[in-house]
Amino acid sequence: SAKHKDIGYLFYDPKTDPHTQERLQLNSDLRHALERDELVLYYQPQINIRTGKIIGVEALIRWQHPELGLLLPDQFIPFAERSGLIHPLTDWVIVTALRQCKKWQFAGHDLRIAINVSARSFQDRKLVARLEELLSAGETCLPAGHIEIEITENILMSDIEHGAIVLQQLRELGISVAIDDFGTGYSSLAYLKKLPIHSMKVDKSFVMNMAEDESDTAIVLSTIDLAHNLGFSIVAEGVENKGTLDILNKLGCDYAQGFHISHPLSVDMLEKLLDQSES
Ligand code: C2E
Ligand code: CA
Ligand code: CA
Ligand code: CA
Repeated sequence: SAKHKDIGYLFYDPKTDPHTQERLQLNSDLRHALERDELVLYYQPQINIRTGKIIGVEALIRWQHPELGLLLPDQFIPFAERSGLIHPLTDWVIVTALRQCKKWQFAGHDLRIAINVSARSFQDRKLVARLEELLSAGETCLPAGHIEIEITENILMSDIEHGAIVLQQLRELGISVAIDDFGTGYSSLAYLKKLPIHSMKVDKSFVMNMAEDESDTAIVLSTIDLAHNLGFSIVAEGVENKGTLDILNKLGCDYAQGFHISHPLSVDMLEKLLDQSES
């Protein structure tokens, strides 16, 4: 719109000027984004390293902004967290992801779906009840075992008592929980071993350059062993080349995700990939 152009939309570059975000009222734009269906989920495949088969996808949100083009989550999720818009946004993500997963199930693709939940949404006392409601009926009704909630270790450790209760409730529903970005936060191992966690995702900063960096390889190996010793499965994210995938296979890592396997894809692109890999 003309109003937007007046304040510089045409020259907008969030990378060079983080403060422009405030001026551009992304916040009110985001409110409209929900109403106008501008949000979209991309899906990044996760493979079982031993078989090479796609076993699931991680839902990653994008915002198809009318003027700015496709925005990545780091450009608007922090905003949503501060404004409270994160609650309707998370609800939209969960509903959309479950509905999509159910469609795939009907089409014969047995995929699990991983959903990112931010700090404020995880602290939302209504989250578990909402998941239970969605799983029990209608177009979002799925076996709970197909769903994995991803939270970072910091979210969990920031309020460990509440976190432990939510994890227990999710387990009772049959929903799995993965600790995201493992290694970048401040997990207490004493707590981790007691919590009903299903898997750990070793952060991509350790995985990306593993093939060239021995200390990264050592960190990843230790994390794989830690996860297995605690009874968790382990996902490596940020797998960008074949060398890394080969090393992960040798180290006994369970699952992998990254640009070498596939970028995050639109629904159409993902379905093409699924059809190819099954034929
Ligand atoms: P994350 O959960 O750690 O997601 C992984 C990020 O790594 C994604 O960035 C993905 O596109 C990127 N990635 C995947 N493979 C590779 C690779 O091989 N190399 C590299 N360098 N990067 C790779 P994206 O989609 O920009 O998402 C960024 C973050 O935004 C996510 O980090 C997650 O914390 C958050 N996020 C994404 N979707 C949602 C959502 O629906 N809700 C919430 N609350 N947060 C979300
Ligand atoms: Ca994640
Ligand atoms: Ca991650
Ligand atoms: Ca991250």
